[in-house]
Amino acid sequence: MSKQLKLSFLRAARTFGVFKLFRYLTQSQLRILCYHGGAIGDESEYNGKLFFSRQTFEQRMKWLREKGFNVVSLDEAVESAGGKRPAPPLATVITFDDGWYSTRSELLPVLDKLEMPSTLYLCTSHVLEGTPVATVTTRYIIWKSPLKSVALSGYTPAIDGQYDLSSGAGREELAKKVAAWIEGFGADNTAAVDALERFAKDLAVPAGELQLGTRRFQYMTGDELRELPAQRCAVELHGHVHHYPVGDPAALKDDLRQCSGAIQSLGLPVPKHYCYPSGSFDADAAGTLGELGVVSATTCIPGLISKAENEQVYFLPRFLDGRDVEMLEFEAEMSGFSEFLRRVTGRAASPA
Ligand SMILES: [Zn+2]
Repeated sequence: MSKQLKLSFLRAARTFGVFKLFRYLTQSQLRILCYHGGAIGDESEYNGKLFFSRQTFEQRMKWLREKGFNVVSLDEAVESAGGKRPAPPLATVITFDDGWYSTRSELLPVLDKLEMPSTLYLCTSHVLEGTPVATVTTRYIIWKSPLKSVALSGYTPAIDGQYDLSSGAGREELAKKVAAWIEGFGADNTAAVDALERFAKDLAVPAGELQLGTRRFQYMTGDELRELPAQRCAVELHGHVHHYPVGDPAALKDDLRQCSGAIQSLGLPVPKHYCYPSGSFDADAAGTLGELGVVSATTCIPGLISKAENEQVYFLPRFLDGRDVEMLEFEAEMSGFSEFLRRVTGRAASPA
């Protein structure tokens, strides 16, 4: 179905009261929403899943309140899904992945104003480095470049050469090489910023357009993270490195112990919820997470949660909102109508 046709269908459904009916029918089921950073400049146009506009976020949150959704903490939601306590109708959890500075500067103030709790799944290595995230900044620069091809020299033997920027493969090859080079600077922010600005200049993106000074590609600092619980935002696990080691439970344990240790060393409470980086997981996850004392884990598979018993609590569905999601689609998803459509068309993938 084309997007236009889908939107017309949803508009008609909403007009006939179908969304309202589904909110009533599914009011006992839990929803979990996923966001990442906010948008300080034009980075939402580059990646609308990673950087979300404050204005649209505020529109979504106000709609939730208006329609009777009750935003609850992840602790409360997991306990109610496990049958340990009752949940209010249309219980909804707001989560943020990664730890972007812009989550704090753009999105959390919206929740603060509405007195809504939230959860931040933190990837701790980027906090310790403190530099702009190389993989994201490099890809942004390439996206922003007006050039069709570029010849680089004086970098490293691995990078120097000619790149075709008109092809996806050419752009990706360049992004990977440059990101690896910048990651090599570790926590040396001056070196990383100099390198990124030099690369941007060679790609005809002036430093004034890159705007690294706004911190739009950086994570929060330890001091900023420590302030989050007072803003009703709990800091939880997203791995030390942003990678789920499929088929390697020992590596997962090491990674989560490092992530948990880093969170605690910031003076924050012991984390107990996990979110799979990039949404990848395997069947071993439940056992490993249980051994580590982790009490829940979220995926990026959309769906509503009726109950989460035993292993289901380690594969909680979650809706990844983004710039590409129209307000109407958001309303359909949150009302439970989209999940119904996925089920009747056999496209439901949620395990819980
Ligand atoms: Zn992430």
